[in-house]
Parts: sequence; C-alpha cells; structure tokens
Amino acid sequence: MSSIESAESANFIYKIIDEEREAGKNRGKVATRFPPEPNGYLHIGHAKSIILNFGIANDYPDATCNLRMDDTNPSREEQEYVDSIMEDIRWLGFEWGDNLFYASDYFEQLFEMAVKLIEAGKAYVDSLSVEEVRKYKGTRTEPGVESPHRSRSVEENIDLFKRMKAGEFEDGSMVLRAKIDMAAGNLNLRDPVMYRILRATHHRTGDEWCIYPMYDWAHGQSDALEGITHSICTLEFEDHRPLYDWFLEQLDFAVRPRQIEFARLNLSHTALSKRKLIELVEENHVSGWDDPRMPTIAGLRRRGFTPESIRDFCDRIGVAKKDSMVDMALLEHCLREDLNVKAQRRMAVLDPIKVVIENYPEGDVEMLEAANHPQDESAGIRQVPFSRELYIERDDFREEPPRKFFRMSPGREVRFRYAYFITCNEVVKDENGEVIELHCSYDPATRGGDSPDGRKVKATIHWVSAAHAVDATVRLYDRLFSIENPTGVKSEEDWLDNLNENSLKTLENCKLEPSLAQYVPGEKVQFERLGYFCADSEEHNWAMPVFNRVVPLRDSWAKLDKK
Ligand code: ATP
Ligand code: MG
Repeated sequence: MSSIESAESANFIYKIIDEEREAGKNRGKVATRFPPEPNGYLHIGHAKSIILNFGIANDYPDATCNLRMDDTNPSREEQEYVDSIMEDIRWLGFEWGDNLFYASDYFEQLFEMAVKLIEAGKAYVDSLSVEEVRKYKGTRTEPGVESPHRSRSVEENIDLFKRMKAGEFEDGSMVLRAKIDMAAGNLNLRDPVMYRILRATHHRTGDEWCIYPMYDWAHGQSDALEGITHSICTLEFEDHRPLYDWFLEQLDFAVRPRQIEFARLNLSHTALSKRKLIELVEENHVSGWDDPRMPTIAGLRRRGFTPESIRDFCDRIGVAKKDSMVDMALLEHCLREDLNVKAQRRMAVLDPIKVVIENYPEGDVEMLEAANHPQDESAGIRQVPFSRELYIERDDFREEPPRKFFRMSPGREVRFRYAYFITCNEVVKDENGEVIELHCSYDPATRGGDSPDGRKVKATIHWVSAAHAVDATVRLYDRLFSIENPTGVKSEEDWLDNLNENSLKTLENCKLEPSLAQYVPGEKVQFERLGYFCADSEEHNWAMPVFNRVVPLRDSWAKLDKK
C-alpha cells in the first residue's frame, strides 16, 4: 500500500503547464477535456480525472474544460449513461457550460480526414479477417507481416472506403488501416485499424453510419478539433501517444494537443473498471449502479458520501506518474472529517432491548435538552422525550460483564445521555434464557446527566423512549470484496469468489428518536456512538424510514497512517 503523494508531485502537470505558458506556447491558452465513453456509470477513478481536468480549467485564466462523450462504439453506449455522467460531474461541483461535445459530432469530419490520409497514401482498406489482422500483427519480439492488400492503389482504396460507408459490405469484412510500419517496435504503430464496419444503432446518430471510427483514431483528432492544449489521460495510453502524434502530423491542425499521462487511481477492496462493474450489476451481485457498496459516484452519493469528501480525497492522493493502490480507509477518513463538522447528532438504537424504569411515574413524559452538535453551539439544541420505558442497545448490557466492560450490568449505575443516572436491578428473560427486559431505577437528582453529589459513572449510553420511538430499517455496509485487490486475482480463479458475503446487513425494527422521522432523503446524521448515516435517497420516507450507514465512527486510517 503506497503512502500519499506529496503536494509537490501533485503538481507535475501544473508545472508543465506553467513552463509552457511562460514560454508563450499556445499564447498562454489552456484547454483540457474530460472524455468519458458513455458505456457505464462514472466511478471514483473518473472523479480523480474530473477534478484534475476541471480543476486546471478553474485555476488558469481563461482556461476551459470540455466535457466530451467519446461515443464511438454504439454497441455498448446508451443515453442513460450520458445522463448519469452529466449528473455525477455536476454533483462533484463542476460545470462545462457550453463546452459539451460528442465524438459522434465529428463522424463526418473524421471520415473526411480518413479520405485525406488515403489520398496521401497513408491508409488502406484491408480485407483480412479480424482473426488474420491479429495474427499478422506479430508480437513484441517478432515483427508483423504486411497484409497482401497493403499495396492497393489510392483510387481502389477511396472507392472501397466509400462503399464501406455506403453499406455495400458485410460487418467485419473490411477495415480501414493506417499505413505506418508493420515492423515498428511499438505494436500500436503496426498499421492500426481506423474504421470497422458495424451495423449498430448509435444513441445519437441512429442508423446513419455503418462504419465507426476506432477510439485510437477518433480520440486525438477530436481533441485537435476542439483546440485542446493538454490531453490528460492515464498511463496505459503512454504507448498510444506515438500513434496519436503520427495521426496529428499527417493532418494540419493549428493546435496540437500535448498528451500527458498520470497514474490511474486504484482503490482497495473494490474494482475500478467499468467492465467489472457492469458484471456486478448485470449478474445482480449488487442492486444496481447506485448500490451504496459500489465505487461509482452514484453509489457513493447514495451511501452518503459528500462531494467535498471526494474532492479532499483526490487532493490528498495527488497526481503522480507511478501506479499504486490507495486504501479505502483513506476515503472513509476524508468522509468522517467532513461529516464530523457537518452532521448533527441524534440517538438511534439498532438492536433494541427494553428498559423499564420502575420508579418513574407511569404515563409521565418529559422533554430533555440534547445538543445537536457538541462542538458547534450554533447547531442548537433539541428536545428528546424521556419516559418510563426506553430502548438501549443490546450490546450495551452484559449480565456478566467482562473486565473493562463499564456499561450496563446488574447493580451498576450508568449515565443515559442527556437524561439520568440509571441502575439495573433485575434481568427478565424468556423461556430460552434470552434477555427481554431490564428493570431499572433512576435517580431524579441527576437530571441532565450530572450528579449533584459528585458521584461518578464510568459509561454513558444512548437510548430512545419506547413510546415515542420511530421504527426504521437500517442498512450496514462493509467492503464489497474481502481482499485488497480483487481484480488482480490469477485468471484461473473467479474474481467474484472474493465478494464479501457480509457486505450488506439489513436491520429491521431499529428504534430512532422522533426527530429523525423528519429527515429528508439524502440527509446525513451521526447516530451517537454508532457512526454516520444517510437517509436513503430512494427508499426513505417519514412513514418508513430507511437509513444507510455511511461509515462507522472508528477510523482505521489513523492507525494505518501511523504505521
Ligand atoms: P474503465 O477502465 O473504468 O472502463 P475507461 O478509461 O475505459 O475506464 P473512460 O470513460 O474512457 O473509461 O474514462 C474517461 C477518463 O477517465 C479517461 O481520461 C480516463 O483516463 C479517466 N479514468 C478512467 N479510470 C480512471 C482511474 N481509475 N483513475 C483516474 N482516471 C481514470
Ligand atoms: Mg477508456
């Protein structure tokens, strides 16, 4: 597990931009873009790229960041994904304004550019099968073999390419290839495919096209058409850069984008690859793209993460050139820091056991004052009802307390938060020996939780008045995978074997203090002593509250960080 990058190295892209601006390159203009393929929902890795690209646009004068949908593969792309991408970027706090583009807007221009390459003798139509193209490509140690169709005349190539476009040939029967070098050390330069024939309905262009540009052909030209100055991408595209540059050299663009690669985000105990995430969704291992266990932006949002915590996380991990794995505990740490300030405190009992205060008058109810936020007076106070019958957490009682267990046990006095000192006198069990009720007494002189005679108690526990409690469903989440790097498993194993069976625990019949019934979907709160929770954005309502635990209170990052 790597440590956090220093702030210094977080800026290596900024340093490059600074130097270029000083040298007057592009007249000081900075234009970036975020180019998702709309074939899935965005995940936290994409957030890193969004924050980097839109951040640069915010940090330099007159700089822009385009949102471009790289929609060149109609068989996997959908409008639903386009919509979700826009929603997620806005939620993270960024705005593209008028700078929304689609690679599919350039299909005509890309076609014209391809014709130019053919005319210059730099591209040809190949009739080898996909299988053969692959075989002829060679390997890292062996040069490729030239296709027998490589020497077709310009006229024949133009004719065939136009007929490909006109739909005269079957899917997969021909491709357009760049004519570069079948012996190149870089495999990407061995006459890469630029166009394929594919009869698929595109989410924007419909059935207008039956040939589609390959990503490697469309990407750099789309950047150039938009006047992008810095084409920032992840390290796996380093090997593609010579190809992108080759294409740009063949065409006359005023501004040539400079590609800069950075290390993608890898996060422990999850997968950051759309292909893998699609598998989880389609095979119903999760409830959908926005399942609160998913590393998608939609999932994190539903779980209760804030945009601020995600931006803070991306700041801390920085931007570097070396691949590494970041511990999920750091992301959770950032969230805790944010919610610790923002979230009000409430009391909720997840696994209730009933307490009867025998010396408290039957039918009486009193309202006790409770602080909404212990460190922030401006959050105010609220009234919490107290009565003869209460619920406490089953875990806060032990009939035979082990050493160092200071919470409730027979004969021991403890503090009920904001209320009274209370002593357990009798344990009531059912026929199976299961504890069902605790009979207790309270000391009326300790109202508010302080004893006038200076008597001390060693524990303070939370509670909810039984008659006033609101029933709720609470979902507890844990890591989706039980190992750190599930996508790194050897190929003969199934990566899904490492799904954490206990990643979701649903608790029914939880007891909330009444004010929680007014929480609106998406609202966050700290349940005292338990963790941060979020009213579920889909299923929560006042009649049947549903809360998701975002994170427990205990912070494992602080420990990891020290190590
Ligand atoms: P995936 O591997 O999840 O399918 P992708 O790279 O195919 O991701 P794109 O839609 O092409 O998905 O990504 C859009 C942008 O987000 C690209 O510029 C890509 O480099 C960047 N990106 C994708 N994954 C990560 C990641 N884990 N960390 C940082 N940036 C990423
Ligand atoms: Mg990609």
